[in-house]
Amino acid sequence: MKNSADINYLIDALPNDATCYGYCPDCDEVHYLTEGNSRRYALELMAELEENKRIDFHRPDPEPLFSTDCLWGKRGGQMFGVLECVDGDGNTVVLRAFSGQFNTRWQAEGWVSPTFDLAGYSQLMAKIESAIEQMTADIESCKQQSDHCRCKFEEAMGSGGRATQKDWRRQMKAALKALDLAKKNRRTYSQSMMNVFLDLYQLQNFKGNQRSILNVFYEDRGIPTGTGDCCAPKLLHAAAQKRLTPLGLTEFYFGRESKSSTRFHKVFYPGCKNKCQPILGYMLCGL
Ligand SMILES: [Zn+2]
Ligand SMILES: [Zn+2]
Repeated sequence: MKNSADINYLIDALPNDATCYGYCPDCDEVHYLTEGNSRRYALELMAELEENKRIDFHRPDPEPLFSTDCLWGKRGGQMFGVLECVDGDGNTVVLRAFSGQFNTRWQAEGWVSPTFDLAGYSQLMAKIESAIEQMTADIESCKQQSDHCRCKFEEAMGSGGRATQKDWRRQMKAALKALDLAKKNRRTYSQSMMNVFLDLYQLQNFKGNQRSILNVFYEDRGIPTGTGDCCAPKLLHAAAQKRLTPLGLTEFYFGRESKSSTRFHKVFYPGCKNKCQPILGYMLCGL
């Protein structure tokens, strides 16, 4: 396993047209993919987005949610990606992806699916939401109980006898302890559910491996929210599942400039460093 300085050195030495790369701990080297001919397909996609102003342009009946108007609103634009592949018979296949959700939707016709199990995700979200709701109600009732005990204690301090004061102090302490415990329960549950949620991301690579993102993300830090949802992992995962061989990958931003002014309309960007690089080495392995 190389250290981060050595990995950065290898990444700096990659060809200029490398668009998608990452360190693979299994092979102890950096795997990468260049742009290939994918820019041509990306330019075609941009033209289609501009012309149709929606992303479901294969459908005769457009869905309002899939209009590209949202990319010019407050939230700003979004990344799109294109992967040029070849199938077993030598035919060119071009896959398309949008990053994360498009206007609250994970899936749209003509675009690759997310890298996690969508049905499992919906079930899990429903379960988490109802459990959190119950725990929040528990916290609320503990809060009311501790407020009640504090009022009673303050009253007793004003007029009650020593025994009553002592009793309310004891009850107040017990109520505060119960409140702390209820809060801790909710926190622990949320954290543990985060890992269950991440485990729905079962990433496939070109060696025929399928691994949970929890075992793929090699950097020793928390997995950032949205890891696995960018275009590059979505495209590579879809290609591996369809047994296609990727030849070139391009990602570009489309829409209103990002708030941080780091992304601009119709500009091409390589895979991101924070979320993608720590998983792309594994995903490209076997190519
Ligand atoms: Zn990314
Ligand atoms: Zn490898």
